[in-house]
Amino acid sequence: MSSVAHTDSVHSAHVLDEVRIRELFPILAATVGDKPLVYLDNAATTQKPQPVLDTLSRYYAAQNANIHRGVYQLSQNATQAYEDARAKVATFLHAADPAEIIFTRNATEGINLVAQTFGRSTVGEGDEVVISTMEHHSNIVPWQLLCNEKGARLRVVPITDAGELMLDEYESLLGPRTKLVSIVHMSNSLGTVNPVQRVVEPAHGHNIPVLIDGSQAAYHMAVDVQAIGCDFYVVTGHKLYGPTGIGALYGRRHLLDAMPPYQGGGDMISSVTFERTTYNEVPHKFEAGTPHIAGAIGLGAAVDFISGVGFGAIAAHERRLLDHATAALSAVPGLRLIGTARQKASILSFVLDGVHAHDIGTIVDTEGVAIRTGHHCTQPVMDRFGVPATARASLAMYNTTEEIDRLVAALTKVREIFG
Ligand SMILES: *Cc1c(COP(=O)(O)O)cnc(C)c1O
Repeated sequence: MSSVAHTDSVHSAHVLDEVRIRELFPILAATVGDKPLVYLDNAATTQKPQPVLDTLSRYYAAQNANIHRGVYQLSQNATQAYEDARAKVATFLHAADPAEIIFTRNATEGINLVAQTFGRSTVGEGDEVVISTMEHHSNIVPWQLLCNEKGARLRVVPITDAGELMLDEYESLLGPRTKLVSIVHMSNSLGTVNPVQRVVEPAHGHNIPVLIDGSQAAYHMAVDVQAIGCDFYVVTGHKLYGPTGIGALYGRRHLLDAMPPYQGGGDMISSVTFERTTYNEVPHKFEAGTPHIAGAIGLGAAVDFISGVGFGAIAAHERRLLDHATAALSAVPGLRLIGTARQKASILSFVLDGVHAHDIGTIVDTEGVAIRTGHHCTQPVMDRFGVPATARASLAMYNTTEEIDRLVAALTKVREIFG
C-alpha cells in the first residue's frame, strides 16, 4: 500500500495522493440528486476502502468456517485469519501481546466490558470513578449504571471555554476512593486531543488504572498504548475504515487475567460441568460465542490499509484541511466554532446565529453535503457551551479543500434563506 503515499522530494515528508486515495473508496463517487456527495460525517463513521470490501467478500466467498473448534483445513484457516487480525490490531495499537486485544462489537461494548468485569469486581460503596465533561455517552452511562448499582460516585473533570481538560481540577479529584479513570483521547464533538499521558501519570501515582476511549483518535493519529501507559484502550472498527459490528479492547495482561468473565457461553470456557465451569485463557475468556469473524478479519485489512497510507501523511493532510476549514468557516458571518482547543484534530463543530442546527444540516444536504447535527452523543458538552445542538463537519483522509469550500458555499445558501 505504500504506493498511495509518495515522498515529497523537497521535505522528504510523506504526502498523501488525494486522487488515488479517493479512487479506493467507491462510495465517494456517489451523487446526491445531481450533486456529487461531499461526505463530512466521518466522526460518526468512515467510508470503506476497496481492500476492506475485497477482504470481506473473499472471506464469505472462499474462507467461511467457524473458528477455534474445527480440525478441518477450512476452519483452521479461518481461525488463523481471525488470530492474524488480532495480531494486526495489537501491532496497530502497539500492544505488547496479541492476547491483550479482545474483539468486541464496538467501543461501547469495550467500555461496558470493563465496567461489568473490572468495575463490578473493584468498585464498592463510596468509591469513585472519574470521567470528564467531554465524554461520549458511551463513556458516561456504563459508569453511571455501575455507580448506581454499587452506591459509588461519578466525578467529572471540568473543561475550559476552549474545550480543554482542566488538569489541575482533574488531579484534585484523584484520591484513595478513586477506582478508575476513564477519559476520551479525542473528543467527537469538540475535536480536542487530550494529553493522555498527563492523564495517566497522576492516576498511576495513586495506583488508579486508566481507560482511554480511542474511538476518534485511532484513525487520525498513531496510537501507542505502551507509550501512553494506559491500562485499557478502546477502538471501534467502523471509524477505522473497517466494518461495523467489530471493535477492540486493549487491556494489560495482568488486569485481564484477574478480571471475571463478561458473558458466558461457548469458546470462553475450558471445561463445563453442571457443578463447575473453568474459563478459557485471555483473550478467549472475554469472547463468548461465535464472534464477528469476517468483521475481525475486515478490521485487520482496515488497519493494514491505514498503516500503508501512514499516519505521517494522514495527519499532515488532515491538518491542512482543518486549517483551511477553520479559516473558511470563521469567515462565515454569524458562525461560531465550538471547540477551539490548542491541540485539536479533524472536527469542526459550529453554531450559526438564528438558525437551528437541524435546519443547517437539511439545507446543506440539498447541496450534497453530509454533515451531522445534534448533540453528537455528548449532551453534557452541549450543556457546557449552552447550546441545544451543533452542526459538525468531520474530516477523514479522503476529504479535500474543494469539499470544504462546497460546505462553505452551502452555508452561504443557509444564510440567504434565513437572511
Ligand atoms: C463513536 C464514539 C464512541 C462510540 O462508538 P461505537 O462504535 O458507537 O461504540 C465512543 N466514544 C467516542 C469518542 C466516539 O467518537
